[in-house]
Amino acid sequence: MKAVCVYCGSSPGRLETYADAARALGQALVARKLGLVYGGASIGLMGLVADTVLQLGGRAVGVIPQALARKEVVHRHLTELHVTQSMHERKTMMADLSDGFIAMPGGIGTFEEIFEIWTWAQLGIHAKPCGLLNVAGYYDALTTFLDHAAAEQFLKPPHRAMLMVEQQPQALLDRFVSYQPPDIRKWLVPDEA
Ligand code: AMP
Repeated sequence: MKAVCVYCGSSPGRLETYADAARALGQALVARKLGLVYGGASIGLMGLVADTVLQLGGRAVGVIPQALARKEVVHRHLTELHVTQSMHERKTMMADLSDGFIAMPGGIGTFEEIFEIWTWAQLGIHAKPCGLLNVAGYYDALTTFLDHAAAEQFLKPPHRAMLMVEQQPQALLDRFVSYQPPDIRKWLVPDEA
């Protein structure tokens, strides 16, 4: 792995614990010589992860759509900043530049990004690891719901297991290194079933 994409809040969240975790993730990436790929903003947890990586001498690559880049939130001191025409182009580029995907606590933007990349993994569009960094139990209710979706047979257990969940960045990155995508298709073709 060379670079990891981090999806996370453009807000800092209520607890200082979230900021601490953003810094810890930045430190873990640099310690493993992994570059950061992220949404290119200077605000919230996004800015904290990028600042930590940069302060420690690591590589932070931002990918931001033009509409957001015009606003003042764009981070001006990144190793590289890619400005795309659209959100769709941006997400494709973030995916192409990254060897794994982590969602820290965040809002709708974060949910949408991790769910899309996990969907692409489920469909075999890529074979890269995806995970949630479950800081202060932020994703407990979501993981309970995902287990419910699997129990109700809308999600196959191997596809559910593709979205790894850990509380510590090092534990999540350890699992990324040994990740093997499941050998299972989303759909069974009737004559192959
Ligand atoms: P949210 O979780 O709703 O705060 O949205 C954060 C996620 O959506 C990040 O991972 C970004 O990729 C994207 N995003 C949302 N707001 C911005 C912004 N102002 N600048 C860049 N990316 C953003």
